[in-house]
Amino acid sequence: DKFKDGMSKTRDSFTSKVNDLVARYRKVDEEFFEDLEEVLISADVGVETVMTLIEELEMEVKRRNIQEPEAVKEVISEKLVDIYYDDDDESIETLNLNEDGLSVILTVGVNGVGKTTTIGKLAHRLKQEGKSVLLAAGDTFRAGAIDQLDVWGERTGIDVIKHNEGSDPAAVIYDGIQAAKSRDVDVLICDTAGRLQNKVNLMNELAKVKKVISREIDGAPHETLLVLDATTGQNALSQAKTFKDATDVSGIVLTKLDGTARGGIVLAIRHELDIPVKFVGLGEQVEDLQPFDAHQFVYGLFG
Ligand code: GDP
Repeated sequence: DKFKDGMSKTRDSFTSKVNDLVARYRKVDEEFFEDLEEVLISADVGVETVMTLIEELEMEVKRRNIQEPEAVKEVISEKLVDIYYDDDDESIETLNLNEDGLSVILTVGVNGVGKTTTIGKLAHRLKQEGKSVLLAAGDTFRAGAIDQLDVWGERTGIDVIKHNEGSDPAAVIYDGIQAAKSRDVDVLICDTAGRLQNKVNLMNELAKVKKVISREIDGAPHETLLVLDATTGQNALSQAKTFKDATDVSGIVLTKLDGTARGGIVLAIRHELDIPVKFVGLGEQVEDLQPFDAHQFVYGLFG
């Protein structure tokens, strides 16, 4: 399936490293765990997350009196899933939409991470589910951003509300909301400028946009999705921290998971930021966006 194919790089790399490790050890000892730690860090699982995981693994292995390295694999999967969800309700992983009225999704993220592509894919996905969708071209800052969103609008047969480059993003989004209301649209997806160079500007712009949205519609935005590029590894993690400081982020979309062997970053993001990963990007085509399922991901790591 799509998900399995899309993460084949990560799976191939992880599976072979873990199998090598298991083959090298006759029993599970201190050194085994040290090596395992390295395998996990090399998959970008993140130091903090790996430390927690190893600690819990050691306890569990002792508790169950496991001696065979092969038998540890199952425990690794179990603990990775546990760490991923922590104590959270698994239902927060799905998109939070208003079922009987207009829903607004705000997308944020740095240029180049795949934000425009993600908006196109998400719009397509919602349309496939039978929802009517409208896009608002709120990235008025980057040259070409509006045209690029237009291309996705044409590709998916979805209208784009836009102003000229350089205009006020809050005004575009205001117009988007009015259009969505008058056309009785189910979901409005808003693009925003991805400038990180100046955190104060970013904060001000997002705050202004959010104010307009929440003034027009109670409880909106229903989602603020931060788009991150999986191939940038620990950089994605630090970007996420910056955005999390600048605004309330309700979910992550992790793109280009198909392009990296270090997909463990998805676990680090969830564990270290406590923000659910709602979708993953697994390619450049319109259907290459999948809801993220940690069970499927973790068990998929072992072949
Ligand atoms: P933006 O600047 O954040 O809007 O980024 P774009 O949407 O223009 O995407 C940047 C590049 O990444 C484009 O070439 C996309 O085709 C590519 N891209 C986006 N998402 C994915 C993905 O999930 N997988 C792969 N392989 N490429 C992607």
